[in-house]
Amino acid sequence: MQSIYDYTLDELKEKLKPAFRAKQVYNWLYKKYVTSYEEMKNIPKDLKANLEENYAIDILNIVKKEQSSDGSIKYLFSLHDGHTVEAVLLLMKKKKIADDGKIERSEKYTVCISTQVGCKVGCTFCLTAKGGFVRNLTVGEIVNQIVQIKRDNEIDENKSLNIVYMGMGEPLDNFDNFVHSVKVFSQEEGLSINRRRQTVSTSGISSKIEKLGQQDLGIQLAISLHAVDDDLRSELIPMNKAYNIQSIIDAVRSFPVDARKKVMFEYLVIKDKNDDLTSADKLLKMLNGIKAKVNLIYFNPYPGTTYQRPESKSMIKFQNYLTSKGLLCTIRESKGLDISAACGQLKEKENNGSS
Ligand code: SAH
Ligand code: SF4
Repeated sequence: MQSIYDYTLDELKEKLKPAFRAKQVYNWLYKKYVTSYEEMKNIPKDLKANLEENYAIDILNIVKKEQSSDGSIKYLFSLHDGHTVEAVLLLMKKKKIADDGKIERSEKYTVCISTQVGCKVGCTFCLTAKGGFVRNLTVGEIVNQIVQIKRDNEIDENKSLNIVYMGMGEPLDNFDNFVHSVKVFSQEEGLSINRRRQTVSTSGISSKIEKLGQQDLGIQLAISLHAVDDDLRSELIPMNKAYNIQSIIDAVRSFPVDARKKVMFEYLVIKDKNDDLTSADKLLKMLNGIKAKVNLIYFNPYPGTTYQRPESKSMIKFQNYLTSKGLLCTIRESKGLDISAACGQLKEKENNGSS
């Protein structure tokens, strides 16, 4: 069965006549977060019956929720076929209330969403890879993650969110559904999440980065680089043998970047593998001439891995080196660390029945 979340407004207008009904339905779905057609008060009975018969509304179920002390919430969703995927609501900034009781700044959220069950890329440091690849998520399954999280947290319809495609799966390997979901999210009559507020993270399928660039969607690009030489990168990301570092850098150079924005390079830091200053220097030279920023990520260990979390002093040294040479570099705060932060880790816990 199709999901009502599969469509942009124009597509829904094609299906529902008269067309203004599509706008009304969109309003109920994306502003009121309804869970049934019954609640759509201004929709005629026969249309409701038609919708009921042809389009599912919620196609995910929340099976597990973990709240972290920093306010982040990790969700495990089950799909209609019993598989599960994760999404995380990250509280980037807390609400600030002035002495007179007025809200000085409202909270800022980012939601990290999944695009596949499992992943084909097979990175050796990633838990999602361990279960192999199962299937692509549909557009509706991608979109429903955001709607359910907004609903579950009673996030105001006008509150804007940032989206990062950094959950389970490789977004560019589910290219069409991923691109379509970007369009659904950005519909003004719907969630209205500006494309500049959406970031796709890719392990570096160079040909797909080029294809995405040609579509000029206006979204932000993050590259999971993780290594500065092909030997190590191929160990960490086997796909690097087909799409090596140079091919990725070339693809990034041709990618259209918003004048005010930068391409983010994610660098997963693993103790004694890539945490040295020689690597930092190579990274600096590699990114020369690209409007780039670097995000250093602590490797998050899990049972059975031989990789180790780096020491914070080597992270800071690495960061300081890049910053001193004029390259913007941040260290990813371990948001939600106490809730098994990295992708695939909540799912793994559920499978082991360990919590
Ligand atoms: N497939 C895409 C997006 C999803 S992976 C990609 O690889 O970019 C999401 C992020 O989780 C990546 O940046 C990856 O580096 C990170 N990640 C995976 N396993 C991790 C671990 N054990 N510790 C820390 N980060 C991890
Ligand atoms: Fe897939 Fe990303 Fe995990 Fe690599 S890090 S296996 S690309 S989800």
